Amino acid sequence: MSGIDDLPPLRQVIGDFGLSARKSLGQNFLLDLNLTARIARVPGDLSGCDVLEVGPGPGGLTRGLLASGARRVLAVEKDARCIPALQQIAKAYPGRLKVLHGDALEIDVGAHLSGEVRVVANLPYNIGTELLVRWLTPPEWPPFWRSLTLMFQREVAQRIVAEPGSKAYGRLAILAQWRSDVRIALSLPPEAFTPPPKVSSAVVHLTALPAPRFAADAAMLSRVVAMAFNQRRKMLRAALKGMGPDIEDHLTAAGISPTERAEQVPLEGFCALARSLHNR
Ligand code: SAM
Repeated sequence: MSGIDDLPPLRQVIGDFGLSARKSLGQNFLLDLNLTARIARVPGDLSGCDVLEVGPGPGGLTRGLLASGARRVLAVEKDARCIPALQQIAKAYPGRLKVLHGDALEIDVGAHLSGEVRVVANLPYNIGTELLVRWLTPPEWPPFWRSLTLMFQREVAQRIVAEPGSKAYGRLAILAQWRSDVRIALSLPPEAFTPPPKVSSAVVHLTALPAPRFAADAAMLSRVVAMAFNQRRKMLRAALKGMGPDIEDHLTAAGISPTERAEQVPLEGFCALARSLHNR
């Protein structure tokens, strides 16, 4: 027994099902069920929610989510070895856990989720940023999710919550903060994981806003921000030359000095620039 449920401790699960961690799948497991229960509490009351979990592995966070009362959990796992361990959890929580075997970058989860959806995941680091960018840039807003509670390497977490003027400020901060509230909910040392990764980690909590903070066309904002930060040390009039010969006029119209660098421009400035460029 494990303290939060009647299932075996995770070390035993790993032994029983032969789940030795594979680096190629970004496998750094959380084996402390008190810790996974703490992460599961970050999004608040889950009793009325469907939760999407990417990469459940041996199921520590899955068990935290179910024990915290999540109405239903949809767990997408690429490693076939983990599926029987996850089925054991599904049996202990009848009708509340659905396990999909496959690649989270390819599976369409929409058909399996309904009502208020929250995403909670200890993501594999190799696909974490790609998944986050996809979730932040859906074809329509508000997105299918109400909140995202995601484990990242600490350096990535800092890029998500970064403010203008800091080295970490860039495309991720702007994409995330344009349409969500963001905060770092927990910081975790490498030893919290088995095996321990080389770097520290942090759980970021993002809550979708009903509408963007400032009006802008999503594709144009994404394009201009990517170009601006691609050459972040250059003055914006040079970094954004590719946007057209009249870029200085658009920068000025947006209230941005053409000699500023991307790092100094707040979210509102980038949105104004995207509007000016979109309307030309
Ligand atoms: N949630 C578990 C925990 O906290 O102990 C495991 C987290 S581990 C960092 C990442 C998990 O994602 C692994 O179980 C790995 O097999 C799985 N994974 C890796 N790539 C994936 C992908 N493309 N789609 C779905 N799962 C993936």
